Amino acid sequence: MSEKKDREWQYTLTAHDAVDERHHGSINMPIYQTSLFAFESYEKFQEAAKHSQTHHVYSRGNNPTVRYLEDKLAELEHAEMAKCFASGMAAISAAILSAVKTGDHIVCVDQAYGPTRAFVTQYLMRFGIESTLVDGSSPDNIRAALRPETKLIYLESPTSMLFQLQDLTACAELARSHGIVTIMDNSWATPVFQNPLEFGIDLVVHSVTKYISGQSDSVAGVVLGSARLVSRIAEDEYMLLGGIMTAHTAALITRCLRTLPLRMERHERSALKVAAHLASQPYVLRVNHPALPAYPQYELGMKQMNGTSGLFSFESAESPEKMRQWAGQLKLFKIGVSWGGFESLVTVNPAFAGCAAEARSLIRLHIGLESADDLIRDLDQTWAQVCDLQL
Ligand SMILES: *Cc1c(COP(=O)(O)O)cnc(C)c1O
Repeated sequence: MSEKKDREWQYTLTAHDAVDERHHGSINMPIYQTSLFAFESYEKFQEAAKHSQTHHVYSRGNNPTVRYLEDKLAELEHAEMAKCFASGMAAISAAILSAVKTGDHIVCVDQAYGPTRAFVTQYLMRFGIESTLVDGSSPDNIRAALRPETKLIYLESPTSMLFQLQDLTACAELARSHGIVTIMDNSWATPVFQNPLEFGIDLVVHSVTKYISGQSDSVAGVVLGSARLVSRIAEDEYMLLGGIMTAHTAALITRCLRTLPLRMERHERSALKVAAHLASQPYVLRVNHPALPAYPQYELGMKQMNGTSGLFSFESAESPEKMRQWAGQLKLFKIGVSWGGFESLVTVNPAFAGCAAEARSLIRLHIGLESADDLIRDLDQTWAQVCDLQL
């Protein structure tokens, strides 16, 4: 992107640790496979129990392997504190629950991740918490939806089907001026390309399952923000709902974190190459990728993000049936949900609100770590095989 911030420090942060003599200089954080921690004296036990978030008492609380990962992620996301969870949804639901109570109201972007929307608009209704879904592309829409009882604005920028952005500075200022908490899902950009806390967002959540893992072998989540907000979540939702990350998962994710900046640069470069190629293909109406200059919110993306990841979509006037034929014959793209791993993926959906008027299909691609030229060849050759089909 135009004025790339220097990201070199991210490489040092993810690759380097000071020698830790408590672990005999082990170059990796050991896996603390333990449920509880024992003490030499009752005094020490009582002292630790008083501070169970900073001391090690029980692994549904503070496990050293998990804490190591939390501290790394906090530094990368410019947060005072992080808490890791069993999944992205465990992190998201815990963060949302920490911000609302019966009688409160939530404003949520209408393109947010489906299960997040279901949690906000359906599940929380049971507890008397109301919500309004809004088109987040303009802060005016968010302002118009505010009520005196609004306690939370939930953002996801970019969204993961149409890649719509929200103006983070404007949303954070609006929320602050009304005493409202903001939570943002930053899974798409990762801390490598976007740091929402720097724009005044209160809490950031990630599906660590996606890029931070990047190996498609773990399900995990994290909440990051100020020590005040995150320690409250650690004491309440983390301890009481119990959706914790295990030491084994933390060790796996720590391995993955070593290569996060490296992988993100590769995803960015390859996805841009494929997206730019697709923009000129006859079966493509419109490519939804925030770093293409034709993208309607390109300028905002440049301002807020330091780079872009490997997931984007395109719209086609061809039928979903025909595009599914095409997707099924691709050799290098697997058909499957999720994204963020080493592998390229494809899904085909019927066009929906927000797509171009002539669009019949919305195709989402995840560009993995394969050769971008090979991927482009696969897309083109497969299209040549199905383009005459009358579907
Ligand atoms: C996958 C995903 C989630 C949920 O994460 P899990 O780890 O699957 O629970 C949340 N937000 C976005 C944008 C996602 O893509």
